[in-house]
Amino acid sequence: MLTVALVGNPNSGKSSIFNQLTGLRQKVGNFPGVTVDKKEGLVSLEDGNTIRLIDYPGAYSLYPNAQDERILAQIFSDPRHQDFPDAVLYVADVTSLEKHLLLFTQLCDLELPVILGLNMADVAAREGIQVDTHKLADFFQVPVVLMSGRTASGISALKMQLAALYNADTKIKPRKIYPLDNREQQLVDQISHIQPTRSVYQALLLAHHASWLPDIDIRLKQLDFEAVKYQVKETLSRYEVFSPIVKSALAYPQQPQGQLTNQLDRILTHRIAGPIIFFLLMSLLFQSIFNWATYPMDWIESIMGSLSNLVSATVPEGWVSSLITEGLLAGLAGILVFIPQIAILFLLISLLEEVGYMARAAFLFDRLMRGFGLNGRSIVALISGGACAIPAIMSTRTISNWKERLITILVTPFISCSARIPVYTVLIGFAIPAKKIAGFINVQGLAFMGLYLLGILAALLSGWILKMVLKTEERSFLLLEMPPYRSPVMRNVLLTVWEKVRTFVLEAGKVIMVISLILWALSSYGPSGQMALASLEANVQAEGQNLSDASRADLIAARRIEASWAGQMGKFIEPAIAPLGFDWKIGIALITSFAAREVFVGTMATIYSIGSAQSELSVRDRMAAERHPVTGLPIYSLATSLSLLMFYVFALQCMSTLAVVKRETNSWRWPLVQFFFMSGLAYLASFIT
Ligand code: GDP
Repeated sequence: MLTVALVGNPNSGKSSIFNQLTGLRQKVGNFPGVTVDKKEGLVSLEDGNTIRLIDYPGAYSLYPNAQDERILAQIFSDPRHQDFPDAVLYVADVTSLEKHLLLFTQLCDLELPVILGLNMADVAAREGIQVDTHKLADFFQVPVVLMSGRTASGISALKMQLAALYNADTKIKPRKIYPLDNREQQLVDQISHIQPTRSVYQALLLAHHASWLPDIDIRLKQLDFEAVKYQVKETLSRYEVFSPIVKSALAYPQQPQGQLTNQLDRILTHRIAGPIIFFLLMSLLFQSIFNWATYPMDWIESIMGSLSNLVSATVPEGWVSSLITEGLLAGLAGILVFIPQIAILFLLISLLEEVGYMARAAFLFDRLMRGFGLNGRSIVALISGGACAIPAIMSTRTISNWKERLITILVTPFISCSARIPVYTVLIGFAIPAKKIAGFINVQGLAFMGLYLLGILAALLSGWILKMVLKTEERSFLLLEMPPYRSPVMRNVLLTVWEKVRTFVLEAGKVIMVISLILWALSSYGPSGQMALASLEANVQAEGQNLSDASRADLIAARRIEASWAGQMGKFIEPAIAPLGFDWKIGIALITSFAAREVFVGTMATIYSIGSAQSELSVRDRMAAERHPVTGLPIYSLATSLSLLMFYVFALQCMSTLAVVKRETNSWRWPLVQFFFMSGLAYLASFIT
């Protein structure tokens, strides 16, 4: 199977073309050794052949500025690389062709077959831009296809060109653009003695990149070469070649283009109006998430509830039935219930991304974010963190400065994610009266907002501290293209949503399921003999007090969980958490929710309702009825509830986040630092409260 590299500048519409060509036949992985997304897909061709298409991060040239641009330079410098392609599909935005051809001409010099795809044909047609594709094809000696990632026009012509790659007779030999000078030629000769190369230009690339490329012959690293000077010279000489061709191949209409974009930008990136509009948009976004997501969430919960009832009714009572209902189904519900929020958040965020707004948001907040060691692009991660830290942390891949990316990764889990919502809801119910101020401001809602603000504050302050502590040599700059505003391509939006949901279910889902099963085992079993003893004692006590059947079952269940492994663990840590106002039952919940916060409510339900006949009582009512065994005072007093809230605002209780951070930073060091920092802060805040 031929491997074709999909290459182009950022915003050329590369992803749209990738989606058009591959549909759902894609998978996302990592380029080896680095945490840059590698999207791969299969393209089915008319004649039955298939092409493996690899989507490379957008880049402006083979002389990279950012970490993800380096991938491209690395692969094209090294023909031994496993991903070295058989051909290149180059996507360029035809409406700003002159900016997009630099990288293309570099690829031509690599003497690989290249197909030039001129994207955004629909925009060009609308703006009255006329393109002479024959002229371009004649000059560069490559097939040129005019196409649109939006309307899919030209995609079948493109597929025909891809199919022709299998045809031995059609050899694409792009024109060589850049003539080497004596010094460069001398270098290339030197290199070819050290290591075989595929083309002259590839040897030159080796000379440019030897200093940072991995697994490079030491003699190459020792070449004395003023790389930057030659990069500038090369770039200028390339422009001199292709600028005139572009001018003669493209005919523009008289009136200036991009007017609407400029007018919109005058408002949307305005110093004062810009941020106001941004926050209005974000509040709208959050309102939509909470308003829309409740319906599907309710459906999921009621479906899972009926499933659980069905199992209880059909499977004979015993450990199998209990494993299915309290272990498996509870775990599955814990995963599924977050899908609506994640889907809606990414639906809206990728819509904003698609229309071109997110680049403006990054630009607006870059300076502010920089003060906290972050980057304009961090705003996207911080906002996404409001749904789930996992996709948010994964979205930091667009931040090229490593230190800013790391800080964004480290502070994002402070942002209150959707998993904290059930915990907040239950605890605010205890701590805050359901009163209204001035007749319409809900006090509980206010408290809710306070918790969110606290998280944001913690994120920014930690960012500021990390900025002072972490050292870096890399200079920070935001290189950002403001794409023109466009109406969104729904296909792209939906594919993003699909990918994010899938990632959540697969990444976090696994952990949640495992923990749910462990939790079930921990609370259903205990040290040998103790569980039986607890049942026996409870039975005797119930007999003595003449309890009804239901109360007897409750009593037995409560005694059994106290005797179980989970109960033992809760009691073991009780001395450590007593200063925070927590008892061993809360201890159990803290232990189990170290895996995932939302498990807190589930654990409370387990502790207070395993085997209960009175399931109509909600977890909250049960918790409210809890009294201290010695003092008789309510366990969930104002102070305890607030202290628990503080704990959940700050603590990093999410094993999935730790796993993702490990993957994104390639070491256990950062997730551990993050874990201890956040837990320490949580303990302190709870203690003070
Ligand atoms: P990438 O950054 O190169 O991967 O580009 P994307 O595929 O994300 O596209 C950037 C923007 O251009 C998105 O808003 C797309 O919806 C839009 N876009 C992509 N292809 C076309 C096209 O052919 N016509 C129009 N009008 N918009 C397009």
